[in-house]
Amino acid sequence: MLLRQPKYFENFRCIAADCPDSCCKEWDVLVDDASAARYMAMNGDLGAHLRRYLHRDGEEWYFAINDGRCPMWRDDGLCRIQAEKGHEALCQTCRDFPRLTHDYGDFVERQLELSCPEAARMIFSQAPTWVERELPGGAEPEYDAQDMEILLRTRKVMLTILADQTRSVPEVLTLALLYGYRAQDALDGGEVTEFDPAAELAFAKTVAKPGDMARIVEFYAGLELLTEDWRQRLANPAGDGRWDDRLRILARYGVERYWLQAISDFDLVGRVKMIIASCLLVRHLGGDLERTAQLYAKEIENDADNVEAILDGAYTSPALTDGKLLGLLLEVTA
Ligand code: SF4
Repeated sequence: MLLRQPKYFENFRCIAADCPDSCCKEWDVLVDDASAARYMAMNGDLGAHLRRYLHRDGEEWYFAINDGRCPMWRDDGLCRIQAEKGHEALCQTCRDFPRLTHDYGDFVERQLELSCPEAARMIFSQAPTWVERELPGGAEPEYDAQDMEILLRTRKVMLTILADQTRSVPEVLTLALLYGYRAQDALDGGEVTEFDPAAELAFAKTVAKPGDMARIVEFYAGLELLTEDWRQRLANPAGDGRWDDRLRILARYGVERYWLQAISDFDLVGRVKMIIASCLLVRHLGGDLERTAQLYAKEIENDADNVEAILDGAYTSPALTDGKLLGLLLEVTA
């Protein structure tokens, strides 16, 4: 089985007490059955503390947030379970985060999640090199091989479009949106025609409509909100209108994270629009780009309902029409 991951993946280390945010804040922590059984049987003060805060909802065990933070989080910013029993005593969720694994049966892709500040620092500062190696084992793929081949091929083209330094950030995002439709056609079994960037940019200008960032902000404000910081940023956008080159990295991260997931629902266009909207939103909200992008990921990417709402909104929200997204990228005004 083939394993693919960014070169920096293995170098990730949690910075714990030095973390400017924390994965131990705001989120309930899902606890796997094996860890829950260990915690329920643990002796001493820690065992009693664990049993006090470990809850069950149907089939799922979880630590509920207490005063905005995980009840295992100590005042010094360290996790009590890890401090007293070591890393291996953590539940699967905490052992894994922010490492993401997408297992496609005959190959696996691993990535770091942008919602962790230290992972965000690595994502924004390290070369986008991916490495591959063979792992023992593997399973029969559950996907159609031809569909996966199309997704892998079109993802490569998409990443090349985003990396093209001869074009500006808004140009590559415009091309990305239009190429998303071309890739969708290929996935749908349609005829694939040549993608000519110059002709596509000219076309984009003919269909772009004045966009409205306030409506996009309103759309995101209507999703499930987690932190007061994010709520405040949505209420007080502070972008200076620059197209920071790191928006390419944000888009690339989104493509690397979401593109192949279209193997399950065949929706590439929705994902591409979600990625473009994330870049527009992060630019509009302003502040330190890495921090704003990390908060975006924390609010959106770790909430399946929010991701689902955006994928739906890509087709139904008047704020996210193709014409308006193109208008915002090309800065078309009324
Ligand atoms: S968010 Fe990342 S760096 Fe911060 S505590 Fe969690 S794993 Fe560590």
